[in-house]
Amino acid sequence: MGTYKRLPVAFTSGAGAWLFDEQGNRYLDALSGLAVCGLGHAHPVVTRAVAEQAGRLIHTSNLYQVPLQEQLAEELCAVSGHSKVFFNNSGAEANETAIKICRKYGHDRGLAAPQIVVMEGSFHGRTLATLTATAGGKQQESFAPLPQGFLRVPYNDADALVALAGAHSDIVAVMLEPIQGEGGIIIPEPGYLRQVSRICQDHDWLLVVDEVQTGVCRTGRWFACQHDEVLPDVMTLAKSLANGVPIGACLAAGEAAATLTPGSHGSTFGGNPLAARAALAVLEVMREQRLDLRATELGATMLAGFRERLGDQDGIREIRGKGLMFGLELELDCSELVRLALERRLLINVTRGNVVRLLPPLIISDEEAEQVVGGVSDLISSYLSGH
Ligand code: PLP
Repeated sequence: MGTYKRLPVAFTSGAGAWLFDEQGNRYLDALSGLAVCGLGHAHPVVTRAVAEQAGRLIHTSNLYQVPLQEQLAEELCAVSGHSKVFFNNSGAEANETAIKICRKYGHDRGLAAPQIVVMEGSFHGRTLATLTATAGGKQQESFAPLPQGFLRVPYNDADALVALAGAHSDIVAVMLEPIQGEGGIIIPEPGYLRQVSRICQDHDWLLVVDEVQTGVCRTGRWFACQHDEVLPDVMTLAKSLANGVPIGACLAAGEAAATLTPGSHGSTFGGNPLAARAALAVLEVMREQRLDLRATELGATMLAGFRERLGDQDGIREIRGKGLMFGLELELDCSELVRLALERRLLINVTRGNVVRLLPPLIISDEEAEQVVGGVSDLISSYLSGH
């Protein structure tokens, strides 16, 4: 439907951090399909699990018990500290589940029009409710009328949240990303999430953390909120959870976990045997290879590399990173860099117009990582020297 401005390349196979086009050229993937293929392409453990499961049973229905889904829920709860999981097929859907939990939590407390506080610069998806929760005026206007029930405050500003609490008595939740991905890899001050969590506790609000982009070891912990030692009432996952097999998950703890009741929510595909099996394989590899630690160590090395090569350069505003999630912010618009990188057989992304976003696979080798740092730094340097 013309919703995508696609680049002139099609990939036919992949291996690890590499993708191969129709002519057999290979490209170094520093984007992982937008934070999806954390284990790289064609990871043997995932491939085997998916192939084996596809040959045995792809789908039954949530009308029946689904043991693989239960096992996945248990494993997710073990690493996150939550007690219940609802499975979806995407990040937006997982966030829809979170929004429904918040609203029902409000209705259960007698509020007819509960409000959810969201952040400036946020991204939560493209469905109507998640689009409304997402910051970004122009896109929203075309799809009015939008659902009601969202208030917005600046990100990384706990005082703004406290001020809002004084002005509204119908707030039931705060929903935010622990690091804003689409918003430009915006990393809040250490302790911000803990402050937000405390404010939520003080007001009996639910804290919803959207870990769709940051979750599953990307930032050096299983979930980015764990850097601040926060257990959100509700947490959403998708993207890298099954390394490319569509899945979403909404995890909940405490009262939030008991909010949805039979019939109040559902999904035909959500958590089917194929997706659950793929996700179980992903968790197994993450756990056994300690990819959380790998993301921390390699992330620090790469960040130091970018800072060394680009830090003093005119035209660079800031170099940010947490684990294997990087934002290199330029003074000027640099959307064109995506195409220029492709010509150099390097896959990157630009968000917000001037932030080069890198989300390399967690299995990337030291040498490949060095190639990403060198290749991206050279690309940016030559771009800046031509402007
Ligand atoms: N939430 C965050 C933080 C995201 O980064 C994204 C996608 O980029 C989404 C939600 C939406 O996920 P999906 O595209 O799977 O619906």
